[in-house]
Amino acid sequence: MPKTAFTNYEAVKAALDFPTVLSHYDIATTGSGDQLKIICPFHEDHKPSCGVHTTNGVFNCFSCTASGNIFDFVVDMEGGDAKNKTGLRAGALKGIKIMQLDPADFGNSGGNKRAKSQKQTKPSGKKSPTPRQRPAKKQQDDTHDEGQKDETKAPINPPLTFELDLEQDHPFFEERDISKETIARFGLGYCKKGIMAGRICIPLHNDQGELVAYAGRYAADDLPDDSPRYKLPKGFQKAHVLYNLHRIKQQPDTKRLVIVEG
Ligand SMILES: [Zn+2]
Repeated sequence: MPKTAFTNYEAVKAALDFPTVLSHYDIATTGSGDQLKIICPFHEDHKPSCGVHTTNGVFNCFSCTASGNIFDFVVDMEGGDAKNKTGLRAGALKGIKIMQLDPADFGNSGGNKRAKSQKQTKPSGKKSPTPRQRPAKKQQDDTHDEGQKDETKAPINPPLTFELDLEQDHPFFEERDISKETIARFGLGYCKKGIMAGRICIPLHNDQGELVAYAGRYAADDLPDDSPRYKLPKGFQKAHVLYNLHRIKQQPDTKRLVIVEG
């Protein structure tokens, strides 16, 4: 692979098309029209929990928190992180390959600068991917919709200035044999009001041990239709947090950390 400095991720995103991408990964779909469902590839899924909108080029899992645009999908499938250049680049290369396009068509000035031209290099003729209706965004890196735009201004996942009032006594824990020690150690509890109402909340910390969010697992089995089983606050960027890292850092003997998926 030549080391071209292409980084026109927006153009790659525009060239991607969900049916082709899904078939590349051998992912079967249900549903019809432009709204499909797939077995979510990002968690252990047994029924199709992940919705895909082929026209809008977005996906959203109702069981885990996986969601994003089609480009994110490819990046995630490749095990990359859409927040860093390596992940973006790997995803872009893969996307171009999946669509059988020519990498040269996606080259622009590249590097860290803004793309000079907003007009997107149209991929050459072979396929004619339906261009997405969105206008090109300001910057090639802006492929993610989670508001990372100005990383310099606001910290990602700033520490919370409040704590939820959680009930440690809930049948959820008993049914799952979650001990009082575990509940206390991880600060788990049932939340009765607010956006996490009806959920078992799990405090999430940054590597400094500061509370940055709560993950909320719906406590009852009968999940309302439009509600995800696991919920994270809007704007929380989970890709930037390795859960429990601060606890590991407290262990004096930790020399090596092995991260596995799932
Ligand atoms: Zn999922």
